[in-house]
Amino acid sequence: MGYPKIRIDKAKYRQNIRKMKNLLAPANLSMMAVTKVYCAEAPLIEILNEEHIEFLADSRLDNLKTIETDALKVLLRLPSKSSIEETVRHSDISLNSEWTIIQKLNEAAEKMNKTHKIILMVDIGDLREGVYYSDDFEPLVQSIEALPHIELFGLGTNVTCYGGVLPTSETIGKLNGVVKKVERILGRKIEMVSGGNSSHIPFLSETISPINNLRIGEALVLGRETSYGTTLEGFFDDVFILEAEIIELKEKPSYPEGEIGMNAFGKKPFFKDEGQRKRAIIALGKQDVDHNEIMPCDSSLHPIGSSSDHIIVDVTDAQKQYEVGDILTFKLTYSSILSLMTSPYVGKVYE
Ligand SMILES: *Cc1c(COP(=O)(O)O)cnc(C)c1O
Repeated sequence: MGYPKIRIDKAKYRQNIRKMKNLLAPANLSMMAVTKVYCAEAPLIEILNEEHIEFLADSRLDNLKTIETDALKVLLRLPSKSSIEETVRHSDISLNSEWTIIQKLNEAAEKMNKTHKIILMVDIGDLREGVYYSDDFEPLVQSIEALPHIELFGLGTNVTCYGGVLPTSETIGKLNGVVKKVERILGRKIEMVSGGNSSHIPFLSETISPINNLRIGEALVLGRETSYGTTLEGFFDDVFILEAEIIELKEKPSYPEGEIGMNAFGKKPFFKDEGQRKRAIIALGKQDVDHNEIMPCDSSLHPIGSSSDHIIVDVTDAQKQYEVGDILTFKLTYSSILSLMTSPYVGKVYE
C-alpha cells in the first residue's frame, strides 16, 4: 500500500479503553464507547467487544449498520424523520428530543415487534440538542410513558459541545433537578443518566451527580479530556499516526513572486517574507485533512499551507537531511483523525 496512510495501534487503543474503565468504575459510571471518529471500523470494534464494553455509540446509522456486537448499539445524533425505520433496525437506543419523532419510532418499533429504548436529551445550557431544562417535562414524559413500544430508558445531556459550557456542579445541578422531576412523574428511578463526553473527566470527583454513564470518544483515541485539553496519565495520544510521502523538496523564497490575486480556494492569501526556506511538498491535501490539524513527530518541521492535494511543510530547521521519497509522520487531533479516516484516499493499516 502506498501513501498517505494512517497507522492504527490496536494495543494502544486497548490500553486507553482499560485505563478509561479504571477511571470510570470507582465513580460507578458505565461507558458508551463512541466510534464515529474512526467510522466504526471493524478492527477497533473487535477490541471494544473483547473488552466487554456495554454500549457502542455512533452518530451515523451507516456506521451502526456495520457494527457486529453483542453490546447495545446507540444512535447519538437525533434520528431524522426520513430514517425512522433504519433507526429502530440498527440501534437499540437512540437519543431524542422531538415528540413527533418519538411517536414515529414507536410506530416503527410496533411494526417490527420491538421495544426501542430512548434517552431523552436535556439541554442544560450548552445550546445544542435537548429539551431546555427549565421547560415543563410533565406532558412530554407522560406521553412517552404511554407509548407501548418505547421505553424511556434514560436522560442525557451534552456539555462542552456547542457552547463550551463546562460540567461544573452548578450546571450538573440543573440536570439533577430534571432527573428528580422526571422520576417523580414516572414514579420510578430512571435507569440511565448519561452525562457528557470526554470533557466530563476532570469533573468525575464532583459530588452529588446523578450521572451514571458517560459517552467517550476523544479520550479513547487521543488520551485527553476535552474541557481543558490535558493529557490523561497513562493514556496514549498516538493510537493514530499519519504517514505521508515527500514528492518535492526545494529551497524557495517564502514570499510569492508576482502580483497576488486569489488562490485555488477563492481567498486572497497572506504571506510573511522570511527569506529563502527549504520546503517539502507531501502528497495529501485539503481533500484529506486540514494542515493545521497535523503535528509533525519531528518537531522542527512546520506545515505552512495546503491546496487540494498538496501540503507544504517548512523543513528548514530540521536536523535530519530529508530527501524526496522520505516519509514524514504526524500526530493527529480529533478533527484530523475524523477527516483522514473518512477519506477513501488514505490507507488504513492496523498493527
Ligand atoms: C461525539 C459524541 C460524544 C463523544 O464526545 P467525545 O468528546 O469524543 O468524547 C458524546 N455524545 C454525543 C451526543 C456525541 O455526538
